Parts: sequence; structure tokens; C-alpha cells
Amino acid sequence: MTSKVQTVLSKQEASDEKMPDNFVPPFRGHLPEEVKNSIQEANFSDPIYRQYVPSNEEQEIRESELSDPIGDEAHRVMKGLIHRYTDRVLFKVTAVCPVYCRFCFRKEMIGHDTDSMKPEDIDNAVAYIAEHKEISEVIFSGGDPFVLSPRRLKSLIERLSFIPHVQFIRFHTRVPVVKPKSVNDDLLAALKTNKRVIVVLHTNHAQELTDNARAAIEKLRAADIELLSQNVLLKGVNNKVDTLATLYKELMGLGVKPYYLHHPDKAKGTEHFCVSIEEGVQIYKALRGQVSGHLLPQYVLDIPGGFGKVPINSDWVCLQKDGSYLVTDIHGDKHQYWD
Ligand code: SF4
Repeated sequence: MTSKVQTVLSKQEASDEKMPDNFVPPFRGHLPEEVKNSIQEANFSDPIYRQYVPSNEEQEIRESELSDPIGDEAHRVMKGLIHRYTDRVLFKVTAVCPVYCRFCFRKEMIGHDTDSMKPEDIDNAVAYIAEHKEISEVIFSGGDPFVLSPRRLKSLIERLSFIPHVQFIRFHTRVPVVKPKSVNDDLLAALKTNKRVIVVLHTNHAQELTDNARAAIEKLRAADIELLSQNVLLKGVNNKVDTLATLYKELMGLGVKPYYLHHPDKAKGTEHFCVSIEEGVQIYKALRGQVSGHLLPQYVLDIPGGFGKVPINSDWVCLQKDGSYLVTDIHGDKHQYWD
């Protein structure tokens, strides 16, 4: 990173030159060293800077934007546990992240450690999973589960390892990319279990794949952990065919299989990141010509209100004459979606 970038970030880490003096970002901000070092230009044309540094545009809230765009609350069975799909639960053990992505779909639920699960909440969640034999997969996500100490992570994984019907333990994380040094021997030891462990890496641009990030990914791979990636289609970050093609090729070269390309969720103050479904489909179709089929993630829409993810560019999502989309959920119910 240039010294100019360093100066701008150290002077006002959660700000920018155009921002009024009295602007207080409503959503927490934090830039770990690895992220600062991967920024090449201290402005919003830089794909890393744009993802993490608050901008004035966050203050513009559209009517269609929601506090809980993917409807976690509609499927919350107790504090920290979301049971949306029969065979899986989402375990939101912490409300803390190593970075605070400005487009985050859970931005109103994370950033405050007081919202993390307490020991009694964890006991209740583990008991629920043990009682529900239909649950075969436990997914730790948003906040970032890898911010937990390896000791806490190990204890959680050990408790799940005693539940026979749990086959898979999945972690959604940004840590290998934004705090790669945290992927150390203690973390790898904590992840050892009799269950199948899957790590889904959240990364949106190949510029994030620094030497340290690559080394962290390699360590996870060497530990026989299945690695997948998810990314969000973001205006000004990666809404270009070449950018995504490069990202997917780099990831696959590291042994990370691209899994989901998320259409941006309607979180409050995120319009400046939004692309239309039409643009997304065009990019997705063009990607087919640039990367092999096995490098192509599924392009998905999370239906607002908690109705789950469905593939875009399929008959699950149909354009109507009035310009809206008719979206069919996994139960066959229909929902109108406006871009
Ligand atoms: S790491 Fe995930 S949960 Fe945390 S701020 Fe970023 S998108 Fe949100």
C-alpha cells in the first residue's frame, strides 16, 4: 500500500475525503492490517476500499431496503439459531466480524459483542440440534465464526461431534482473506473432528487474495478441509465479467470451488452496490464463455422475507410485463420481486 493510502486510512479509517465532518457511520467499521495492505488506491474505485470504507451513500435508505433482508428472524427458533431449511440450521454464535462489509445483509445484527450468544444460549442451541434428528448440517455464519478463539471453537465442534445425526459442519468466513494469520495451528487443530468440515470463503475480488491469504487457504486445504467460495455481485467491485473470471480461476487454482454468486440483498443504505438482475444475468451468461463450467458458481437470489435462495437465470425467477420478477420459492409459493 502506498504511503498516501496509509495516511488517509490512519487519519480517518472509517471515513473519506468527501464525507461531512459530522458524519457518523451507522454501521461499525474496521480495517485489519491485511486489508489495508491490499488496498492500492485510497478511493472508492479501489475494489477493497469500496467494500469496507463507509461512504456518504450509506445514508440514503430506499423504501424497499430492509433491516433483515433475508428474513432470518422469520425462522429464528431461539437466540442465535435459525432453522429455515429442514436439514440445516444456521448457528450465529458471534455478532462480531473481522471486517464490516458496507453491503452486509446482516449489518443491523452484527458489530456488537453484546448480541453474541452467551454460554446458556449455546447450551440451548446444541440441545435443540440434538433433539432434531432431521438436522444433518450445522452452519456457522455472520458474524464470523473464525473470530472465536480456537479454544471456544474446539469446544463447540466437540459438542456437535457427539450428535450422531450431524454429518457436516460448515463455516462461512472472511478470516482467511482479511486476517489470514489467524489461520494457525491452533485453529486447524480445533477444526479436527469426526464430522465433515466445510469452509466457505467469502471473497469478492482477486485483489483480496494476497500472499498471506493464499498461504492461509493452502493450510486449510492441507488439513483436508473442503473449501468453497461465495461472493456478492457488487457494483464498482466485481460487476465485470473479467473480474469475476479472474477471481474464479484464482480460487480454483487454490483448491477453492466457487459455490455461490449472490445477487446483492436489499440491506439498508446499500443502493450504491446494487446491480439489476438483468445486468447480473448478462454478466453470468458471459462468464460461461470465459470459464469452465466447473468454475461457475450458482447465481442466486435470497427472496426477501425469509423464503430462501433460488437460482437466478432459471425458471425460478421470471421477468413479468410490469418489469417485476415472479420468484418461486422451494415450496412452490410465488413472490413478486422488484429490482
Ligand atoms: S463478514 Fe459477512 S457478516 Fe461480517 S460484515 Fe462482512 S458480509 Fe457481514
